[in-house]
Amino acid sequence: MSLKPNNNETRSGWIDVSVPLREDMAVFANEQKLRIEHRASMERGDGSNNTTLHIGVHTGTHLDAPRHGIANGKTIDQMPLDIAIGPARVIEIKDTRTVRPEELKQYTFKRGERVLFKTTNSERCWKTDNFVEDFVDISPEAAQVLADAGLSLIGLDYLSVRAPASQTGTHKILLGAGIWLLEGLNLSAVSAGNYDLICLPLRIVNNDGSPVRAVLRPVI
Ligand SMILES: [Zn+2]
Repeated sequence: MSLKPNNNETRSGWIDVSVPLREDMAVFANEQKLRIEHRASMERGDGSNNTTLHIGVHTGTHLDAPRHGIANGKTIDQMPLDIAIGPARVIEIKDTRTVRPEELKQYTFKRGERVLFKTTNSERCWKTDNFVEDFVDISPEAAQVLADAGLSLIGLDYLSVRAPASQTGTHKILLGAGIWLLEGLNLSAVSAGNYDLICLPLRIVNNDGSPVRAVLRPVI
């Protein structure tokens, strides 16, 4: 099943930039597929509908807490609400392979800023339920630039900040700098600019990540 572009915009201006959760949806590399177990079903004659989700925390649109890559890093339940809610800048990346320092040079980053990278992933990768291995990711060199800039949150429009075949380093550099990673966004309905962001994770104790509902509203 192919996916429709995400253009779920509300009257209040909030735009849904999260991807729908479905059993068939793509998951990163060897992650467990989402399973939705309908334990009780009124269609089957039960008195109610009741569902159990079998879901990896890095499924669909989700947050990586520093604990994902850093042994004593902050856990998802320790995420300050002030990072999950607030201004965010969407930057459009032209490079079709990876985010590199050369392309970032034209931007000035502020400490504590939230930055979401819109790449060609948004148009390309969510159209299929197969995991796209060669998605546009963030190079370790660009990660170092972003870590040095002291950002609070970085978003990318596919399931990880680093493709599986690439050298490692990006996660460790960003999470080691205490940056929260918002992965699995679909930014096809938004363009570069300034927005308000809400991306609240579930309050899972001592955990490395959580699925989120992420929404953006243009700042006028
Ligand atoms: Zn993740």
